[in-house]
Amino acid sequence: MEEAVSLIESFIAEGGPHHVFTADASGIMRAHEDSELRDIIRQADLVTPDGAGVILATELQGMRLPERVSGCDLVERLARLSAERGYRIYLFGAAEGVADAAAAALVEKYPGVHIAGTRNGFFSEDEEVKIVQAINRAKPDILFVALGIPKQEKFIRKHFELLRAPVMIGVGGSFDVISGQLKRAPQWMRQAGLEWLFRILQQPERLPRFAALPQFVWTAWRGRKK
Ligand code: UDP
Repeated sequence: MEEAVSLIESFIAEGGPHHVFTADASGIMRAHEDSELRDIIRQADLVTPDGAGVILATELQGMRLPERVSGCDLVERLARLSAERGYRIYLFGAAEGVADAAAAALVEKYPGVHIAGTRNGFFSEDEEVKIVQAINRAKPDILFVALGIPKQEKFIRKHFELLRAPVMIGVGGSFDVISGQLKRAPQWMRQAGLEWLFRILQQPERLPRFAALPQFVWTAWRGRKK
């Protein structure tokens, strides 16, 4: 996390657009089938391991990553940094009112956080240019895009040259969690690598997405260093 945050700070200092992708198992499996998503991930400036499955897969490949860096954790960590350093953050995505509620929760938790703006994540294609202009007018240093994978990554890449935010991060359902609409797994479950189980219990409709998990671990196992 500290490494990711210090890279993100260097992106802000450098200026120009940068894309951060938080890779979870289902996103990586999706990229196996979706070549556009795969190319987007390859071009990303920073890819973080998001989930116990990804940490396990990297271990199978002979790498040791110190910890998981999820979208939700990044929003929290960077909101704290915003309060300390003045970085402006923009929350784009989720259902009407959720980004506002997430912003309010962040203001309460990290007094002094600079919220540059918010926007819900439901729009038609012809509204996109207006959305990009509104984001640019707000001059964010960090743009969180919460439209789910792969929509958020495709939005970021499609408007990469137009968006004037030095750091853009797809953060999935993070605003739902931060606003309190969805509960985060308790600490002991996160530490035990069981956040996925908590999410299935809370949203059983997500079960099909988790079906990719065994396939992901199998793919990583086959590709391991012997
Ligand atoms: N969402 C959105 N616009 C859309 C589709 C989804 O803003 O057109 C939001 C949705 O309300 C939710 C988030 O995107 O807050 C998707 O969350 P999920 O946990 O499914 O993300 P993933 O795990 O795919 O990254």
